[in-house]
Amino acid sequence: MSLICAEYRCPDHGIFEEIVDRPAPDEMFCHELLEDGARCCRPSSWTISAPRPKVLSVPCYATVRGGDTERRPGMLDTRPLADGQSYTAWSADQAKTQRDRRHKQLIDKGLTSKKVIVGGG
Ligand SMILES: [Zn+2]
Repeated sequence: MSLICAEYRCPDHGIFEEIVDRPAPDEMFCHELLEDGARCCRPSSWTISAPRPKVLSVPCYATVRGGDTERRPGMLDTRPLADGQSYTAWSADQAKTQRDRRHKQLIDKGLTSKKVIVGGG
């Protein structure tokens, strides 16, 4: 057993830190003292310590839980290059991924329809 510092978010008092056994429980009770001297005790859910990235945005940090096998959408992945893919093909893949991502963002914003006009191939 090892102790870690985890962050929890109380609906009333925001984020507080708690020393807990690993793995961190999904929920802790808020210890915030109220004006009448009682504790808040509201269930507070575990929150990741790092800033939560916006959906589909590229995070500014490269370390993700689970190690190197999982990449977030849009994260630069040069592993195919190491596997022998030509730079031209890899670069085309990057451009395609970026186009798809951009297209999805536009759809999410309602700025364009689902119809994809594919040009160039
Ligand atoms: Zn609270």
